[in-house]
Amino acid sequence: MTTVREWLLSSSLDSIDKSFILEHVCGMNKAAQLIHGDRVLSSDEAHKLNDIAKKRSEGVPLPYLLGTQEFFGRPFLVNPSVLIPRPDTECLVEWLIEHLPKNGLVCDLGTGSGCIAATVALERPDLTVWASDLSGSALNVAKANCKALGAEVKLVQGPWLDPYPAELSFDAVISNPPYIEGDDKHLDALRFEPRSALTDESDGLIAYRSILPQIKRKAPEVQVIAFEHGWNQGEAVRGIFEENGFKGASTFRDYGNNPRFTAWLKA
Ligand code: GLN
Repeated sequence: MTTVREWLLSSSLDSIDKSFILEHVCGMNKAAQLIHGDRVLSSDEAHKLNDIAKKRSEGVPLPYLLGTQEFFGRPFLVNPSVLIPRPDTECLVEWLIEHLPKNGLVCDLGTGSGCIAATVALERPDLTVWASDLSGSALNVAKANCKALGAEVKLVQGPWLDPYPAELSFDAVISNPPYIEGDDKHLDALRFEPRSALTDESDGLIAYRSILPQIKRKAPEVQVIAFEHGWNQGEAVRGIFEENGFKGASTFRDYGNNPRFTAWLKA
């Protein structure tokens, strides 16, 4: 028989991870874990706890084990078919909330968990928000998140701007596409996340080179374009905006003070 306190002391995992795992399995928050440390775990609980702890020790990210990650103060469901939402992306979202055109028609390309689209829709109810993803299983996650959070987002499946009804002329286009270079060593550390959401297996810029010409053709009314990118890609991404006729894009920094997204506003 194992008590809560014994389990917390027994495993070599980070104590914050252990506490979250215990809360997830036993429904006891940190305070309850301290106060009721001598509560005996059922064999079912002990089995689940040890199973999750083992996976965590093998490197599976905690949000996949708990099934949820907070983004912009809201819980988003996650599973290995979507990227885990990053705090850095909240900086992009803050900028969007401030700059998206009033009553605008907006799309988020490669939405994954839907964290950008759902947050923008909830924070700016005047907007009409669409979102797409190539992956059907990612879209299922985005759909579940929008439903759980009460966010009105219309979801469609396909690459970049392709799957949207032709009559829609978007006022704003947003994307956090796969931008890590195919040979970047960081991909090893991210091995549990969907590789196709992280890298284009090339120089990390293919998405921007594909999306911007599409915007030119399909969204002539566009007023705002914003893309997340890697810390060292600001200049290259601004160059791709420029090549496609979108002059004067600016790059903004994330919480870690690294250049993280580039945005263009119609003059
Ligand atoms: N920001 C993520 C990371 O570096 C990558 C996200 C992406 O490729 N869109 O871990």
